[in-house]
Amino acid sequence: VEASVRLAMFGGYRVGTWEADGLHEITDLLSTEGPFGAPYRMNELIARFDDLRGAIEDRRQTGPIVDPAMVRIETPLPRPTNYLAAPLNYRAHKAEMSGPIASGGTSAKEMGFFVKASGSITGPNDPIELPKRPGRRFDHEGEIGFVVGREARGVGVDEALSHVFGYTLLLDNTMRMTETEREERTLRKSFWSLNPVGPVIVTADEIPDPSQLTIELDVNGERRQSGSLGELILDIPGLIAQASAVLPLLPGDLYATGSPAGVGPIVPGDQVRISCPEIGEMSFAVTERSW
Ligand code: MN
Repeated sequence: VEASVRLAMFGGYRVGTWEADGLHEITDLLSTEGPFGAPYRMNELIARFDDLRGAIEDRRQTGPIVDPAMVRIETPLPRPTNYLAAPLNYRAHKAEMSGPIASGGTSAKEMGFFVKASGSITGPNDPIELPKRPGRRFDHEGEIGFVVGREARGVGVDEALSHVFGYTLLLDNTMRMTETEREERTLRKSFWSLNPVGPVIVTADEIPDPSQLTIELDVNGERRQSGSLGELILDIPGLIAQASAVLPLLPGDLYATGSPAGVGPIVPGDQVRISCPEIGEMSFAVTERSW
């Protein structure tokens, strides 16, 4: 088994592998150019990864090396074609989500996915800017996302994991409904900057069984959420089989697997930290949006 690769974007859609001695840049191995092409470099890298693997391994040995402290680390996946997400997918979270602010008592198994606007994704160095919506509650949802590696169309659960390229961390922050304000879930989960993804994509090589991955989320240093993908109501092969029966999943697509219990409100001034030992960590200041 080859070692997992940690893929990052930085300094204006430059691409590199994150090694112990810094970022090893591989931007020049990718062909997309210009302001409209650069954000799609990671999609290209994922689609061509098997062909590029040898060149990437060479570059991991030789550099050039960029000091991560000297560049802005960006989301590694700014433009997934499809950004899908599991609604209630942990039993304990399902139990806490009964009542008027939630949408019902069924899980991802019955409901399938919802769609998040991929244009709302930001990175590990961007604050969470809550929009001006007086009286509305915004909740943190810390989640592990999987990234699709090759097209999945009508894939069964037995072959599903072979379509996973890697894993990343994300927040699926949510504006809650009220008794009288009941917007579509897609709107409530698509506010810009409430959907950070990163800090890297870790390739699936050394994670043959994703159910071992764990996630923790702290607010102001206090543990609020912890969970393991082993607790999912519908596991990753099930999510892929279900979604790929609806539409082809494409290289670079992102799927948010669901949030463990402990979801709760965030307000300006809070600091939110999310971590997974195999992937890394991100920490965000919660602020108020200026527009
Ligand atoms: Mn969620």
